[in-house]
Order: sequence, then structure tokens, then C-alpha cells
Amino acid sequence: MRARPAPHQRLLATLAPWSVLGAATFGGAAVVAGAFEAGYGPRWFSIVVALVVVAAAGWDVRRRLKEGTGDRLFAAYEGPILWVVAAWIAMRGLGAHVPHTYIIGAALLAWLVATRPTSVALFAAGAAAVLEVGLWITGHQPLAALIVQTLLLAGAAFGLRLFARSQVYREQVEAERVQRHEEAEVQARARDFGLLTAQAPAIRELPSADERPTVGRATLDYLTESFHLQLDVLRHGMGLTTAAVLWRAPDGLVLRGCSSSRADLAPGPYPAGLGIPGSVLRDVPEVTVAPVHANFAGLPYYDGPGGVGSAMAVAIPAPSPVEGPSPGTAGVLCVDRAATDPWTETERLVVRAAARKMGLDVATGQRLKHTDHERSTVRRFCIALQQLNGALGLEQVADASLEASRAMVPADLAVVSVVKGDVHRVVQAAGHHAERFADLQFTPDEGLVGKAIELKTSLPATGEYKGKRPVFTAGDKLDEMRSLLIVPLSKPDGETIGALTVASREPGAFASPNREMLELIAGQVAVKLDLASAHEQIREMATTDGLTGLTNHRTFQQAFTTMLSRADRREDPLCFILTDIDHFGNLNNTYGHPFGDEVLRGVAGVLHRAVRKIDLAARYGGEEFAVILEGSDLEGGRALAERIRTEIEGLVFTHETKGEVRLTSSFGVAAFPGDGRTKEKLIAHADLALYHAKAQGRNRVVAFADLPPDAEMPQKKKDASES
Ligand code: GH3
Ligand code: MG
Ligand code: MG
Repeated sequence: MRARPAPHQRLLATLAPWSVLGAATFGGAAVVAGAFEAGYGPRWFSIVVALVVVAAAGWDVRRRLKEGTGDRLFAAYEGPILWVVAAWIAMRGLGAHVPHTYIIGAALLAWLVATRPTSVALFAAGAAAVLEVGLWITGHQPLAALIVQTLLLAGAAFGLRLFARSQVYREQVEAERVQRHEEAEVQARARDFGLLTAQAPAIRELPSADERPTVGRATLDYLTESFHLQLDVLRHGMGLTTAAVLWRAPDGLVLRGCSSSRADLAPGPYPAGLGIPGSVLRDVPEVTVAPVHANFAGLPYYDGPGGVGSAMAVAIPAPSPVEGPSPGTAGVLCVDRAATDPWTETERLVVRAAARKMGLDVATGQRLKHTDHERSTVRRFCIALQQLNGALGLEQVADASLEASRAMVPADLAVVSVVKGDVHRVVQAAGHHAERFADLQFTPDEGLVGKAIELKTSLPATGEYKGKRPVFTAGDKLDEMRSLLIVPLSKPDGETIGALTVASREPGAFASPNREMLELIAGQVAVKLDLASAHEQIREMATTDGLTGLTNHRTFQQAFTTMLSRADRREDPLCFILTDIDHFGNLNNTYGHPFGDEVLRGVAGVLHRAVRKIDLAARYGGEEFAVILEGSDLEGGRALAERIRTEIEGLVFTHETKGEVRLTSSFGVAAFPGDGRTKEKLIAHADLALYHAKAQGRNRVVAFADLPPDAEMPQKKKDASES
């Protein structure tokens, strides 16, 4: 007998094709009656019909997507007919507003003809013909339209059919289908035999990338072969009709091996509680029936009782898993024969021994897989460490950390965040919707991340995530994730500097040993991040001026050389501005040195804000600053200098006892290549222009090009700049 689904499922299975057909007929009749023609009476009626048909078509498509193509003959036809009706409703309904809508029908028919079996396509084309002719008979379209449209539909269908029949296309489609089918089958078998392990997808660098699936595949092939051999031996040795292995699967029991002289075995899946395998699954290790009664239906893989004289089912013990409790019975070995004699003790012993052997086979397979998994984990770990070791800067380390985490565990999203003072900042995020988290900033006590850092422990304890609690900030969108693990990044001295967060849409992604591996990696990441930020700090200290935060003189000199040779190579213009605060000596004398420092910082802020990212603002010396503008000519430089000048003029500092203080600044501008081709020339010429700006009364911009050809530095200044 066959598997019997639950009553409501049976009712649904019976009703589904009829309701789909009913909706199709109803809709088709409405089309022919002209319900969708312009000017038809009750509009609400046609809207209701259209909604019913489109809803039914949508439901049918969804059912197909979920279950794969229906295996019943009938199921192949009813859907396409309904789709045709839906298309015709759209065509007729849109026809009044959008001309040439028959392209909808032509496209649908062509697709059906190309992708469905001929009989299905013929049925759909027949339905289309009935609708078209019906519309002509009821006077909703003239004969000429009927002929033109029929020719168009036939032409489109025939054309695509020819294309689909072409050898290349067919082979490609077939190869894809076979591969998909095989992969799904291997996957299902591997799952049933416990050969799947939650592991990160192999990354490119992994040397084991090609090896891993092969081990799983080889184990599966070994199991299949071993089962078949044992079943064959049983059948021929004991004169059986069928010897079969039924295995526990998520949807009941499936046939995972059989040797039979009958050809009418149903492959399942069968509901788990059924027949004598059902009894075995309910903790009766062995069931024998001999002789069977007249209507014996204890073997789910037979349609009827015919030919079965006696039957036996024996539990196949589940292999004790590598970790966790034993799940009991993994499968059932069923045998039957035409003879009605009772099973002898020896026969029962043999069948029991075969079942035990099968259980052992699966256990061996799982152990092989486990070993392979562990080996691959160690490799992954080494690669992750290598990646980390190669990184230097903060961003680079964060990048490597994400790569490393995703090599270790199956994460859809990985985020590295760092706490600095009162700010917790995402340094790098990778994976699903990572852009949502890029540059996210929040307070260190916010979200689950904050909690993990505070408690110095990985959260959530279970590694599960229900999508409720905010992980970083209240605006998080992680609701599609089912697994989450936040590992605080702690330095060896116990200080926590941030967190490594991974999330996955798969439940249980971060269970042992993934969790432990990630925690191990996190320790390394913490040390590297700490080093990276120290490294960054040192670099910053070496290149910036401590008082103003602008580039220091030494770095300015190097950068100027680089920028100038780049401009020379590309024949781009470049502009150099030198500025000096007016009467800064007086300011220092009047308000004191510390106040002077504050003013210097304020002026530096103006310069910093004024330049683009590609430009360079530097503290040239005491109260002199320099700006290099790449790609700007003299006029661009002059304009920027003028803007900076105005802004400095507008600055107001407040001295605690002497009140408001204002200041001005003078500017000299020199442009490459017009005012000089070397760094030394450009600096000297800008300096000369600056000197003239001072001489002309300060608080102004003077370009070297504005000076008379005989303009010169006064002797004193010249000596100073030469020394
Ligand atoms: P001018 O308009 O001609 O440029 O007059 P000036 O007083 O600004 O010219 P001068 O170059 O003679 O004076 C520069 C002063 O800047 C001298 C020095 O005390 C002061 N100075 C240089 N570096 C610093 C600094 O780091 N902090 C402070 N507070 N003052 C500085
Ligand atoms: Mg000066
Ligand atoms: Mg000065």
C-alpha cells in the first residue's frame, strides 16, 4: 500500500486541481462573454473575476515552486490553462488602454511551448484557441483580428519551440537539470545519514576546497554500495522478494536502498508511523509477520498486499553520534517473501546482523566525515591566522578579521567594531546588507554588543537569535538572522577593545565547535587590532604637527615632492599657498603664549576645513602655514587663499580677561608650472609674494605673477631664508 497522508491534506490534494480548473473555466467564460471588453456593464464583476483568477494562478505557481513540479498527470495541465486565462484577462482588460497587448499571450504561449511537455503546451494552446474563437463568436472581435492573433500566437510559439529544440539549448537545460537533481539527491542522502556539518563555505584560498565534498561524496557512494551488496546477499540467500532499507528523513521514511524482484516499489517518502516499519520506529526492535493476513498492508513500499507471504522488519541502530545523546533508531531493514513459513531463528539472526552492519557503516561514514571536518577546520584556522598576520593598518586588520571569521564559521554577516573612549564604532562590516552597518557609531553600553563587552563574555549564550533585541543600536535590522554570536575582543591584559559579531540566517550556525573557534580567532583579532591602532597612532604622530593636527613640515616636504612630480608627469597644474599670521608676535606678547597656541589651532581648523581631501594643508613653521592644491591653477589658488583670508578675518577668539580678539593673515601664491617647476622655486616665489603682501599692508593675497619682474626680497629676509 502507499503512504496515506492526513485527511485534510488528501482533501486539499483532491480539491486543488478542481478549484484551479474551476477558476480557469469561470474566468474563461467571463473572457468569452466580454466581461473585460471596454464598455462592459458592471465593472466590479470583472474586477472580482480577474482577482479570483489571478489569485488562483498565483497560488498555483507558489504551490509549484514549493513542491517542485507535480507528479500527477493532471497537475501538469490545470495550472498552465489557468495562466492562459489570466493572460487573456490581462490582454482583453488592457486592450482598450494599451495597444498590442496580445504580446502577453504570445509570450506566455511561447514560453509554455518551449518549456512544458508537448501535451501540456497543446492543452494551453487549445485553451487560448477556445478563448479567441469564443470572442469571435460572441462578437467581441472581428474575424480578421482572430486570424491575425492566431498567426501571431502560432508564430511566437513555433519560433521559440525551434529555439528550444536546438541541440545546444536542450543539452544545456538537460545538463543543468541532471546536475540539480543529483545535487539535491546527494544532499538529502548526506543529511539522512548525518554526513552534513555546519561549516563555513570553502573560501578560495582553502587548499581543501576541492577535497571536502569529495570525501562526503565518497562516503555516500560507499554507503550506497555497501547497502546494496548486503541487501542483495540477503535477498538471494534467503529467497526474499524484497529487502529494503527505509531511513528516517524529515518528511517520514525514505527508501535508501533496496534489492527486489518486483518493479513496482514506491520510493516514498512514507509517513513514519506506518506499517511494520512504524512499529519498529516505536521502539519494537523487531517485528515478524508470518503468514500475513489477507489484506496485509504493513510494507509501505508496496501498493497492494499481492505476493507477500511473510514479512519482517528490524531496527537499524542509529550510530552513536560524535557528541550528544544517541537518537535511537535511524532506519528499518524490511524483508518479505512469498513463502508463508514462520521466520526461523537463524533467519532472524542474519537479518539482525545485516541491520547492525548497516548501522556501523553509517557510523563509520560519520566518523570519516567528522575527521575530515576537523582537519579542514584546522586548515581554516591556519589560513585565518595567516590572513590576520599579513594585515597592518586598522582597516586592513578589520578586513582580515572578517575574512578569517567567515572562513571559520558560516556567517552571512560579520562586523568588527572598536570602542574608543565614549564611542563604539563599526570599523568594517561584510556580508548580507553590510552597508547598513558601515561607519555606524553608538555608545559603548548600547545594544547586545555593549552587554557582551560589559560582561566580557560571548552573547547570546545560546548562539540563537530571535530578531528582537537590538544588536548595535535600536535601528538594527537583523530580523532575518537566526544565529548570532558577539565575541568581545579582549587583549591579554583583559581590556576589551571592541567586538567581533557574526550572524547567520541558518539556525545553529555557531554551535560548538564553531563558537570556540571564533572565540580563539577573536583573541588574535584583539591583539592585532590593538597593534594596528598603536601603529596608526605612531604613524600619525610622525606625520602630523602636535599642536594643530595639520601635516608637519617634514611630511609636507615629502608630499610636496610627490605631488609635484605627479603634476609634472600628468601635465596638471598645481598651486602653492604660503600664509603667515599678521603681527602674531604682538598677539603673543599681549595675551600670552598659551592663548597664541589656541589661536594657531583655530587658524589651522580654518585651513583644514577649506581644503579638499586631495589637497594638503601643513604647518610650515611657527605661525606660517602652507597649502598645496593639486589640479588647481593660479586663479583657483588665489580664490581659495582669498576665501581662507576672509574666514580668518572673521574668526573671533575670546580671552578670559581681555575679551574678544581678532586677527588677520597674509598670503603668497605661486603656481606650477608658470611660477617655477621646482619645489624650491615655488616655495621661494610664494615666500616673496607673501613678503610683498606684508609690505603692502597685510591681510591680503598676493600672487608671484602679480609682482613686477624685478621684485626682490630685502637683504635681511633673503639671508634668513638662505641660511
Ligand atoms: P608679521 O605680521 O610681520 O608676520 O609679524 P609677526 O609678529 O607675526 O612676525 P614674526 O615672524 O616676527 O613673529 C612670529 C612669532 O610667532 C614669533 C613667535 O613667538 C611666535 N610663535 C612661533 N611659533 C609659535 C607657537 O608655536 N606658539 C605660539 N604661541 N607662538 C609662536
Ligand atoms: Mg612669521
Ligand atoms: Mg607673522
